[in-house]
Amino acid sequence: AKQRAEDATRQKSEFLANMSHEMRTPLAGVIGMLGFALRDSSLRETTREQIRRGQGNAQALLAIINDLLDFSKIEAGKLSIENIDFDLHAKISNVASLFEEQAAGKSVGFNVSIDPGLPRFVLGDPTRLRQVLVNLVGNAFKFTRSGAVDLQVELRADDQVRGEGWNMVRFTVRDTGIGIPADALPRLFQKFEQADTTTTRRYGGTGLGLAICRQLVTLMGGSIAVNSVEGKGSTFSVLVPLADGVEPPLVEQAPRAPHTHRLRVLCAEDFPANQII
Ligand code: ADP
Repeated sequence: AKQRAEDATRQKSEFLANMSHEMRTPLAGVIGMLGFALRDSSLRETTREQIRRGQGNAQALLAIINDLLDFSKIEAGKLSIENIDFDLHAKISNVASLFEEQAAGKSVGFNVSIDPGLPRFVLGDPTRLRQVLVNLVGNAFKFTRSGAVDLQVELRADDQVRGEGWNMVRFTVRDTGIGIPADALPRLFQKFEQADTTTTRRYGGTGLGLAICRQLVTLMGGSIAVNSVEGKGSTFSVLVPLADGVEPPLVEQAPRAPHTHRLRVLCAEDFPANQII
């Protein structure tokens, strides 16, 4: 019975992974086509605004589908973590820059502090690390109306359990937002869980973000934890092992001068809308 139940769960995850993949293709067609429509300079301002709104909604739907795809891929055991050299400081600055405008717009403070002892180059999965950080900082802003959001990255001596060649890097995201009730904390990292039933109505979201964060951090060999006081704010803390790295080779950007050749381009794409794009 256990075997059958596990098989059923796996099949469901695989189905979800395939479906989310299939949904992305037509959605890419919608986003691309709306993008084309926006290039028309003769559009009336109201039409332009309608297309922009349509595009915004398509992007929001894409973000949800991407989360579903990630989650089901992880559950089906099909998501692998990369191990490449990257600039940790640049990655953190890149995440921070994403939220600066939002912080200014909401009049919420945003402080980023990076431990000077942090190595610049490490070995790990920069894309997935970024995804985790964007999710946590994004949540912090989403649930904070006043006060501040802090992102702290540090190398604490008592975290260093892996020894030579490894850095246990701790990322702490602290906010002064609505906080999370104590009884909701234990199920927060489960899929489709939100702190209470009014969250979706008030703030939107699917309750998948934190489940994905936990899974990704676990795949990286790290851990994630939360501390929160309702009405006061929340602190999410992620600890990930990142091995010492080297500076990644710089990929030269090939200059792209306009040319006058008449080229024949072979397009290999089965979806008609995407062939046009
Ligand atoms: P989503 O934000 O899409 O609902 P998440 O998995 O990212 O999904 O978060 C799950 C729930 O945890 C949220 O709906 C919210 O109730 C709660 N939560 C997450 N981060 C915070 C935070 N910084 N402050 C308050 N509540 C939070």
